[in-house]
Amino acid sequence: MTRAIKDLSTKAIHAGEPTPRVSGAVVAPIFQSANFEYSGESSYHDLRYLRLSNTPTHDVLHAKLAALEGAEKAVVTASGMAAISTALLSVLSPGGHLLVQGNLYGGTHTFVTRDLADFGMTYSVIDADDPASWASVLQPTTRAIYVEAMTNPLLQVADLEAVPIFAKEHGLVSLIDSTFPSPVNFRPVEHGFDVVLHSATKYLNGHSDIVAGVVAGRSDLVEGVRHRLNHLGGTLDPHAGFLLNRGLKTLSVRVRYQNESALAIADWLERHPDVRRVNYPGLSGHPRHSRAKQLFDGFSGMLSFELSGGRDAAERFIKRAQLPILAASLGGVETLLTLPATTSHAGMTADERCKAGISDGLIRVSVGLESTSDLIGDFKSSLA
Ligand SMILES: *Cc1c(COP(=O)(O)O)cnc(C)c1O
Repeated sequence: MTRAIKDLSTKAIHAGEPTPRVSGAVVAPIFQSANFEYSGESSYHDLRYLRLSNTPTHDVLHAKLAALEGAEKAVVTASGMAAISTALLSVLSPGGHLLVQGNLYGGTHTFVTRDLADFGMTYSVIDADDPASWASVLQPTTRAIYVEAMTNPLLQVADLEAVPIFAKEHGLVSLIDSTFPSPVNFRPVEHGFDVVLHSATKYLNGHSDIVAGVVAGRSDLVEGVRHRLNHLGGTLDPHAGFLLNRGLKTLSVRVRYQNESALAIADWLERHPDVRRVNYPGLSGHPRHSRAKQLFDGFSGMLSFELSGGRDAAERFIKRAQLPILAASLGGVETLLTLPATTSHAGMTADERCKAGISDGLIRVSVGLESTSDLIGDFKSSLA
């Protein structure tokens, strides 16, 4: 990387781009070729073959994403879940034990609680806010600790700084799903994390038109994940890779706008008489505001809020809202709403949801790139 590339916004555009440019093309082309002419490679993993994630399209993404995270290496995958499952199956071996935070992303939760056992791996759930309690669940076979940068849908921020410290003390690999903040707001490697995971489906691509994932971090660990990925086959398709690179170029402007817009909307919602509670770590009243302020450069485009009128009021709001789309996923240009009690968390009992703080009237918002005042205007008439 040249010395001129310092800031994240510049890296998002220039890091990893082919030099010299391919036939002078300003945009790195899609290499839609499954195989490449043999040029003397001696190891299977070095053969130029699409499943081995080594086309020129992949090389650009790997270098760019490593630069954005400040990581030694990165590898892209066919989805966020491919990144997460392949990383866990790479750092754990049969008999291995994993420490995980509670309230994980649904797919990860199910993979850890149901699938890991089929591979002879076990787990314990930790209170990620209470590092003093972690040592008591350690086992001689514990190999890794796994957390999320911000939880869904309450946007809680655990004691993230304690995780890599604890991991180093006990010889564990520390992993973090950093999908919600994106590297614009948070770069876990700077805080000592070994492995950073992303659903690139969300902010990294940012246009809700592909699924993709990223594993970034320590070179030896990413290399191990890549070998496992070569065998499990969760390779990112070159066309999706091209779209991801296109999305990445605007990551910084998108996320900074979303940070600002979400903060303004959260602030407006908090003052509304029909709103009981707003969950957004950028608000000074959020229980983890000072921690989030210290760790993050921005508080993301994700927020959730509860209406005093409960589920009926929430359903009325969703029906009236004209700009936001009622849809799963997040991080795109369109503002999206979900009702977690009936979608992402419908598998829990009402009692479990209540304990987790997810009431039936909770609405989650992924703030898009529409004008903030248009969104607030729409929210205002939907609440009237
Ligand atoms: C969406 C998401 C995932 C899963 O990613 P896919 O790209 O859908 O496979 C994992 N973690 C978080 C936090 C997510 O939001």
